[in-house]
Amino acid sequence: MKPSTICVQSGWQPKKGEPRVLPIYQSTTFRYETSDQMARLFDLKDAGFFYTRLQNPTNESVAKKIAELEGGVACILTSSGQAASFYSIFNICEAGDHFVCCSAIYGGTYNLFAVTFKKLGIDVTFIDQDAPEEEIQKAFRPNTKCVFGETISNPSLQVLDIAKMAAIAHKNGVPLIVDNTFATPINCRPFEHGADIVMHSTTKYMDGHATQVGGCVVDSGKFDWNAHADKFPGLTKPDESYHGLVYTEAFGEGAYITKCTVQLMRDLGSIPSPFNAFLLNLGLETLHLRVPCHCANAQKVAEFLEKQEDVAWINYSGLSSNPYYALAQRQFDGGRSCGVVTFGIKGGRERAIKFMDSLKLAAIVTHVADARTCVLHPASHTHRQLSDEQLIEAGVKPDLIRFSVGIEDAEDIIADLQQALEVIRGC
Ligand SMILES: *Cc1c(COP(=O)(O)O)cnc(C)c1O
Repeated sequence: MKPSTICVQSGWQPKKGEPRVLPIYQSTTFRYETSDQMARLFDLKDAGFFYTRLQNPTNESVAKKIAELEGGVACILTSSGQAASFYSIFNICEAGDHFVCCSAIYGGTYNLFAVTFKKLGIDVTFIDQDAPEEEIQKAFRPNTKCVFGETISNPSLQVLDIAKMAAIAHKNGVPLIVDNTFATPINCRPFEHGADIVMHSTTKYMDGHATQVGGCVVDSGKFDWNAHADKFPGLTKPDESYHGLVYTEAFGEGAYITKCTVQLMRDLGSIPSPFNAFLLNLGLETLHLRVPCHCANAQKVAEFLEKQEDVAWINYSGLSSNPYYALAQRQFDGGRSCGVVTFGIKGGRERAIKFMDSLKLAAIVTHVADARTCVLHPASHTHRQLSDEQLIEAGVKPDLIRFSVGIEDAEDIIADLQQALEVIRGC
């Protein structure tokens, strides 16, 4: 089925007399008739629901829809994008291991990898994803277990060349994990370009209405863990917490997500509530309509801003002047990237703030990527503690404005930008 049909129809498939709409199974537990039936579930001999921390029918239906959208074999929902990033790495890395990560990533992910993972004994090397292969190759070590990058980085909007990075990862016998939050499977399905694992903050476009915080991890099922069995003992060697079960033997293509569920979710417990999964599903039902609308509006906004006297620079891969334009055209359906545009206002921080405060339709919020246009000045908000020099090092220019274009009428969004530009004209 095509992505549009999957958005609307996949996941919950009611049988005779069952509710047409995905039900919210707001129950922690599930009933069995014999003690043996339950015991078989605990031994992973039978599949079935027994406790919502591990599996829940509502969550399962939504996970199935996302797996299909990405073209993967299995998916697990998590309670946040942060949890999804953590699980995606921690499922194959342990103390003493190392991974390679693109430096153009979400700030929260950077902290998780650079600070918190260090405390767990997992080391990371950050690389410039646009560097030549020989340069990136230098970051690999014998204990390197994966490569991580974002399809479109938040907020620097760098576009990852997924095929290039997947080739480098595979040459080193490790999988490529991609955060596909900004592109969404409507614009890009990283598995088609060689990525092995995809994760999302479903808080953003997938939900699209800013109603729930959530995440997910999807497996392509294509990475051959057994071909590199010594690197991935957690998947290829007996698990003592399940009577010596070997995930790749018992679950084949489903090994990675099964381990993620029965080990990480069992022990760490970052599950979304079934109600949040229900809200996420409502968002997914219109993802295929919203994402192209976000992108068409962002394209118009970017073309408008590019022509303005007071705009110092603009970053949007839909503009032919953008360094990622050719890659975006090749890698993204219809050349669409996302609805987020970043730009600078001449005169630096002071004028940028005055400009933002003058916007009326675009609301100042920490959030990004939902139906309502919103705006953020990282130097004053998320990156407030950094000096101007540190900001530049972090890839966030002091004048950078992150403008998340919504699905209102583009003319109204542009009119709002226009009137705010007029306010600062004399300043
Ligand atoms: C927001 C975001 C995250 C973190 O997700 P939460 O749902 O806020 O925990 C991770 N990656 C990207 C690209 C994001 O934009």
